[in-house]
Amino acid sequence: MAALDLSDPALVLLRDFVAIDSVNPSLVSGARGEAEMGRRVAAEFTSLGMELDIVEVAPGRPNVVGVLRGRNPGPSLMFCGHTDTVGVHGMDRPFAPEVRDGRLYGRGSQDMKGGLAAMIAAARGVVESGGLERGSLIVAAVADEEHASRGAEALVSRWRADAAVVPEPTDLEIGVAHKGFQWVTVQTRGRAAHGSRPRDGRDAILRMGRVLVRLEALDRELQTRPLHPQLGTGSLHASTIEGGHELSTYPVHAWLQFERRTLPGEPPDVALREANAILDALRREDAEFEGDAVATFGRDAYEIEPTHALPELLTQSAHGAGCAPRTVGMTFWTDAALLGAAGIPAVLFGPGGAGLHGIEEYVRLDDVRRCRDALADLARRFTSR
Ligand SMILES: [Zn+2]
Repeated sequence: MAALDLSDPALVLLRDFVAIDSVNPSLVSGARGEAEMGRRVAAEFTSLGMELDIVEVAPGRPNVVGVLRGRNPGPSLMFCGHTDTVGVHGMDRPFAPEVRDGRLYGRGSQDMKGGLAAMIAAARGVVESGGLERGSLIVAAVADEEHASRGAEALVSRWRADAAVVPEPTDLEIGVAHKGFQWVTVQTRGRAAHGSRPRDGRDAILRMGRVLVRLEALDRELQTRPLHPQLGTGSLHASTIEGGHELSTYPVHAWLQFERRTLPGEPPDVALREANAILDALRREDAEFEGDAVATFGRDAYEIEPTHALPELLTQSAHGAGCAPRTVGMTFWTDAALLGAAGIPAVLFGPGGAGLHGIEEYVRLDDVRRCRDALADLARRFTSR
């Protein structure tokens, strides 16, 4: 490996980013949020002579977009990364970036300040090599991905592009698909009675047991369905359960929250439909059975059109930067789904590392530079078509 040049602008930017506390205040109450990250990103765009568009998606929580226009009209490419991080519980020095063994450690280094630094440094690479002949490059640093993705939602209401790259951590593979998720709460009801009076009591927890048996069977069935080429199958798991209030009383209520992971093409209410089908079947078997289900939150799965040019163009650019990426599916949900749903075909491509959302998080610095080089080449390649 070549010696690390820590004065490389991509690495300077990355260290600055990791030194900034940008824990998402919707996840951790009282946390700082994205304001300072927004200022640092805006300063970088300004120093590159890029057009700035700053919008607060919540007080003190900006989206910062920098635009580089080519000398002639042409296709537009977007890079989109998030500036927030998850919390730092249990970490010793989360905002003290530390370089060891070609890695940079600290909260957000992998998820996703490494990718964010790479995409902004790619814009610098394009500017410093003479700018774009045609088209435009839109570089978006968005807030709140780790909670409700209000940043990406606000972004697609103002900006369009012909394609986008989201540099979330993919180990420099090209992510062309990822799963979605849906959360459902099931409630079963019983009838309170003294524990010695089985004729009077109806047990909400045992009724939930019947639901659980059916959910487990459904999960097994989901996992025998035909495999999506990158994502495998859908699945579900029971997440939390609660019910009853004292030993000698029949429980009146039980609540279960479960999560269903979905594939592209599955309806946005598939988990609720499945829960209702189970409850209907249980009512048919036992007229006294009482229960209902509500959907609480969900995000769709995503995949780029298999024939879209972006993965192949990015593959060529990545080869030039010394990578040999495969096209893969990611298990986790990302903002790429919101871009895709808004008509901006997107792929994921970001540096490798480990420990995202964990106590020890790092990003590989060599990956950050290769990601930057691939993205800079892609910007020129995509917009000059
Ligand atoms: Zn992320």
